[in-house]
Amino acid sequence: MNQPSGKRFDVCVSGSGAVAMSLALSLSAEGFEVAWARAEAFTAPNSTDVRTYALNARAIALLTRLKIWPALQSHAAPVFDMQIRGDAGGALHFSAWQQRVTELAWIVDAGALERLLSDALRFAPRVDVVAPLQGGQAPANAALLAICEGKFSDTRQSLGVAFERQPYGHWGVAARLQASRPHQGVARQWFRSPDVMALLPFNQPDPHASYGLVWSVPQERAQVLAGLPAADFELALREAIEASEPGALEHLGELRLTSPVASWPLALAQASRWSGPGWVLVGDAAHQVHPLAGQGLNLGLADVDTLVNVLSESRRLEPWRHAGDERVLQRYVRRREWPTRTMANLTDGMLHLFADSRGPLKDLRNAGMSLVERLGPLKHWLVGRALDA
Ligand SMILES: Cc1cc2nc3c(=O)[nH]c(=O)nc-3n(C[C@H](O)[C@H](O)[C@H](O)COP(=O)(O)OP(=O)(O)OC[C@H]3O[C@@H](n4cnc5c(N)ncnc54)[C@H](O)[C@@H]3O)c2cc1C
Repeated sequence: MNQPSGKRFDVCVSGSGAVAMSLALSLSAEGFEVAWARAEAFTAPNSTDVRTYALNARAIALLTRLKIWPALQSHAAPVFDMQIRGDAGGALHFSAWQQRVTELAWIVDAGALERLLSDALRFAPRVDVVAPLQGGQAPANAALLAICEGKFSDTRQSLGVAFERQPYGHWGVAARLQASRPHQGVARQWFRSPDVMALLPFNQPDPHASYGLVWSVPQERAQVLAGLPAADFELALREAIEASEPGALEHLGELRLTSPVASWPLALAQASRWSGPGWVLVGDAAHQVHPLAGQGLNLGLADVDTLVNVLSESRRLEPWRHAGDERVLQRYVRRREWPTRTMANLTDGMLHLFADSRGPLKDLRNAGMSLVERLGPLKHWLVGRALDA
């Protein structure tokens, strides 16, 4: 792919992550001419990313349509059960069987996802790689600029769009683990002020007994954890699990670190505007949520799905409108803003509820958790939101 001169495009996709690549592929599959402005330093995507992503049914359906899923499935494991524990006896249990779905989510390898998307783009028709945008300037030869540059997008900033970021003061520590007992497709999560920890069943290196770890802790503790030798990290992990749920280690067995430990700063953020004449924000460039519900990328892929539907619908029904027509883009914004805010508020609310370790609140939140467990319809609604972000 080279940079053609004078060619006109329907959409210029700016960004180098999973959202940008999924959008470029989806648009190309729908017959749009795409200019992909990826980062200068873009080579093969980072296969050393230690994160595992929990992807929901809608995200998997999109990746299936993009023909990525069959290859990605060998780097993924299904979640059949999810057990969530509070810090004073509160518990929630979700099962695929109860929800009448085959699985609640898939846990996928973050590096494999990006690598497969970039491989597919090499052969995608109607996608030309162009130089990254200069100083956030929209290219003159594309009707629409789709900004998928992640939370630190400079193009969003140069458009003067505010992105109010509330840092949690917490970092997400991620690593891969191998256990001495099979996980049986059970994801576990513990809320124990100030930590939130999740063990996500994964299939590598051991197909039946590996986990992806996501551990949200205060910044200073994240730095300490990331610098520990493997044996000390494993000890800290064991202690945290035992303190959260005495006896849990009997089910999990020995946990051994199989990757480096990495960490990311966590924040809640939302762009003040998602679209304007000729431009639109997609994925983390528009919103950032806490990873405790594993929804950030799911929201981004749902944005992609919706935007492509809106553009295709408009091209079919109103061929006189171009892709950058603000009226068309507003339809995308209307469909995506509410589900995104709901998810952001839900995860933010949970986090704040569990951030306070005082007695009365502690009892109340654990009682609330157990109440949700007994309220079938509310539980069902919560899973519905998570399956279809
Ligand atoms: C610890 C952790 C665990 C998580 N777990 C989950 C999970 O289980 N499930 C889930 O759904 N989500 C999860 N997330 C969230 C998920 O990682 C993000 O929501 C997702 O990566 C956002 O994708 P994106 O493509 O929008 O942005 P990014 O991944 O940030 O990609 C944007 C890319 O664009 C590049 N870029 C920036 N500026 C430019 C420019 N001017 N030109 C070209 N390129 C540019 C950036 O360098 C970057 O490579 C997790 C996040 C963390 C931190």
